[in-house]
Amino acid sequence: MKSLRPESINHFKITLAWALTFNGYGPVAEEIEKKPKKTPRDADTLKDIVALTKRRGFVFPGSEIYGGLSNTFDYGPYGVELMRNLRNLWWKSFVLERDDVVGLDSSIILHPKVWEASGHVGSFNDPLIDCKNCKSRFRADHILEETGVDTKKLTLESLVEAFRARQETLQCSVCGNKGTFTEPRQFNLMFSTKTGSVSGSDLEVYLRPETAQGIFINFKNITDTCRVKIPFGVAQVGKSFRNEIVARQFVFRTREFEQLELEFFCAPGSQKEWFEHWCAFCMNWLYSIGLKKENLRLRQHDPEERSHYSENTADIEYKFPFGWGELWGIASRTDYDLTQHVKVSKKNLEYFDSETNTKYIPYVVEPSLGLNRLTLAVLCDSYLVEKEGTPEQRIVLGMNPKLSPVKVGIFPLQKKDGLPELAMEIHRKLSKLFPVEYDVSGSIGKRYYRQDELGTPFCITVDYDSLKDRTVTVRLRDTTEQKREKIDSLPEILNRLIFS
Ligand code: ATP
Repeated sequence: MKSLRPESINHFKITLAWALTFNGYGPVAEEIEKKPKKTPRDADTLKDIVALTKRRGFVFPGSEIYGGLSNTFDYGPYGVELMRNLRNLWWKSFVLERDDVVGLDSSIILHPKVWEASGHVGSFNDPLIDCKNCKSRFRADHILEETGVDTKKLTLESLVEAFRARQETLQCSVCGNKGTFTEPRQFNLMFSTKTGSVSGSDLEVYLRPETAQGIFINFKNITDTCRVKIPFGVAQVGKSFRNEIVARQFVFRTREFEQLELEFFCAPGSQKEWFEHWCAFCMNWLYSIGLKKENLRLRQHDPEERSHYSENTADIEYKFPFGWGELWGIASRTDYDLTQHVKVSKKNLEYFDSETNTKYIPYVVEPSLGLNRLTLAVLCDSYLVEKEGTPEQRIVLGMNPKLSPVKVGIFPLQKKDGLPELAMEIHRKLSKLFPVEYDVSGSIGKRYYRQDELGTPFCITVDYDSLKDRTVTVRLRDTTEQKREKIDSLPEILNRLIFS
């Protein structure tokens, strides 16, 4: 069996090998190497992962008790923690640890002129087709891609031509009829709503389709109030909304999603260097959180594929079970956005560069990451089935401990004789440091199994010896190895193992 160990395990292994040897555990690294692990990468894996996320409280179908609302999802207690860890690690690396990036939290609803200036009102469209028979709606480019056409480089006109040439043979996946599609037409992806309570005074506004524009319209506020000098970046985390015609592949493409965006402002002429910097920085960050190198690639866009504002774009793609898909878009947006806002708002957004004594509209490099897609990538990357088909089969989310929603499971062996009280004492101590979970139900084996599926790196069992000598069994997720450890040393050891 092929060993498909994710980077997170390797990272974890090195940390454990050092730290546990230090604490008298012996050569853990060799032990880990002996255990065969498997990460199936076929399309069925996605079904298994979706089932696990529902079963274990990561992701629930949206509005489920009302029969569900298509393509909406709610994140349960463990999904929330996993996403919070990812968001915080991103913020730490992209804002806190850099001296050239500051943060922002702009509104979801912006003045409608923002979207006229940015070009979203005019060109944020997808080609749409309907089945005349069953009224189902599809994206024309997706339907063509299923027949082997590479639509990425096609203009709208050539896409319509390609569609017409195949129209008679194209089959609706819902009703099965052939040749029943309408011609493709453009469909704006922005959700609109109205502000104002007095009839007639209301204003049509949009839910933002990207967080970036909130940064551009605050460019002057930031340069006026903060001690920033070009080159510098502004980072923002928040929800964006796109009325995707065909939202699909679980949380990969949804109508409501969260973005982690950075607009990096630089002097004209330096954008190529910064583009390369951010491509490398983002890729290294994905490695650092434990995603496997073989599941990541950087794909350069061809000129025809780029958005209207971009002079250079690359996507970091992840190999999902359904194929390669965009995880992170890195675009060299030139001075397009700020220039547009100068034109439409009539405000001066020029920057005075005191070093060169010149004024200019800065150029922008934008790395834009989707948190929901990143969460899906982490789940796919860490999903392991061990000893598949045997009675000892176990499913493990072998993720980097820094990402794990629960860091330590704490179990009293029995519900009596003072064991729960001692376990709760440990819970109180450790919960001050990181998320822990107390569990008293079912056999110890079942409790371990549950924590393996949550990706919990350590479990502690409190037994009768613990009452006598204040030691507990610490069990490691990745090797299932168990060792005795003193209760008083747990905070120091575990904190080091999880965060170093
Ligand atoms: P795609 O080509 O997949 O529609 P995009 O190129 O339109 O994506 P960007 O506008 O570059 O995406 O957005 C930046 C990031 O936001 C993407 O790389 C992705 O991670 C995330 N994202 C975009 N649209 C969605 C969506 N509908 N659902 C979930 N995440 C999304």
